[in-house]
Amino acid sequence: MSGGMRVIIAGCGIGGAALALALQRLDIDCLVLEQAGSLKEVGAGVQLSPNGVAVLKALGVHDALAKVAFQPRELLYRDWQTGEVLMSSPLMPQIAEHFGAPYYHAHRADLLAVLTDSLLPGRVSLGRKLISVEQKGERVIAHLADGSTEEGDVLVGADGIHSLVRGQLFQADAPLSSGCVAWRGMVDARDAAHLGISPSAHIWMGPGHSVVVYYVSGGRKINWICIGSSPANRKESWSATATVDEVLQEYKGWNSEVHDLVKLTPSLFVTALYDREPLNRWVNGRVVLMGDAAHAMLPYHAQGAVQSMEDAWVLARVLQMSGGKIDAALDRYQQLRLDRATRVQTQSRIAEKRFHMSEPTEVARRNARLREYDAKFKGSYLPQQEWLFGYDAELAARGEDDAWRALRAW
Ligand SMILES: Cc1cc2nc3c(=O)[nH]c(=O)nc-3n(C[C@H](O)[C@H](O)[C@H](O)COP(=O)(O)OP(=O)(O)OC[C@H]3O[C@@H](n4cnc5c(N)ncnc54)[C@H](O)[C@@H]3O)c2cc1C
Repeated sequence: MSGGMRVIIAGCGIGGAALALALQRLDIDCLVLEQAGSLKEVGAGVQLSPNGVAVLKALGVHDALAKVAFQPRELLYRDWQTGEVLMSSPLMPQIAEHFGAPYYHAHRADLLAVLTDSLLPGRVSLGRKLISVEQKGERVIAHLADGSTEEGDVLVGADGIHSLVRGQLFQADAPLSSGCVAWRGMVDARDAAHLGISPSAHIWMGPGHSVVVYYVSGGRKINWICIGSSPANRKESWSATATVDEVLQEYKGWNSEVHDLVKLTPSLFVTALYDREPLNRWVNGRVVLMGDAAHAMLPYHAQGAVQSMEDAWVLARVLQMSGGKIDAALDRYQQLRLDRATRVQTQSRIAEKRFHMSEPTEVARRNARLREYDAKFKGSYLPQQEWLFGYDAELAARGEDDAWRALRAW
């Protein structure tokens, strides 16, 4: 074990699980406290860009993920009414060739299982809800709802958008409503075979609304998310249900491909979309934030989980390289990660405006630009992806990947 250091992680979502596995690989003792009684993720998809897949490679779980995920052919940006592909951005094989790791679409439950199945028994403690954090000199004590405590040298708040750790030790602000909700569902690919949906990520853009459709689970299922401004539902939830009629009503006039897919969906869900204001620090003594607890973001760049994986690898590596200087390592982590995650948060808000434009001259300008990119970069990855996809968390931890700071974001 690295210098006898012990790290307590609050929360076993994708971020906390990735950190636990990174620490395990780097021989640092850790314990994950998860409030839920079992490890499960919701029945939804997650897009994994190469900057996240590179971390999964470093964690030694790439092969396991490749078996259960899906590699899309391209990102297709489409017009909401006509279905025209305004821009096609190739993913396979260009992304892996250029960035060193492929782009995947995965089922969330598969991703979480791939991470946690590799953890040693006893690393995750279930049914343990953190209720407060106490700092005593260089020790951190986690107080749990069952009356027990756990002690370590570092406590990491990986406890999601409603983070108790953030509220108690950083900023007692509330998540910010975007005014949009996301409906989602999954369809058996065999049931949708007659729709001929190509094995790509389809990103439909329309007034005040967008739709993303992609395959998961080795191509056996199709995942869709419809996002739009709707005053009807303001609750943030991964389990609130919705109806086909509700979605069709909201997407009146949209291309029949979207309607036909929604109609095939057995169970629909809806959540209001929230993000957080960026923080100006993620470290308070020996307590540190990561993932949604640090930087919850809107989903337009599909980066929330991916950013939590980047956090995980950088944090684990700086702790490993600290030579026992834990405070300096935590400062280094903040220095390496905060600006980047803040930029992705900000860019995700900007992307919402780009996707949901409704003013006809603005829409025409956006579409002309996409067609121009399509012609200019045909068959190649997009240079605008470089700042996001080209990040190498291992190089970053060693202080050798700062290039993204100077690159243009779209
Ligand atoms: C519609 C939608 C689509 C998205 N699509 C993508 C995508 O394609 N790609 C992508 O990268 N990201 C995507 N995201 C973002 C992604 O879902 C999140 O960023 C990611 O899941 C955050 O992981 P996390 O581990 O930080 O937090 P969470 O997944 O929220 O995990 C937090 C964990 O902490 C536990 N916990 C909370 N409080 C306590 C406590 N007090 N004590 C103990 N345990 C506690 C919770 O039970 C939970 O298990 C999307 C988000 C939305 C809303």
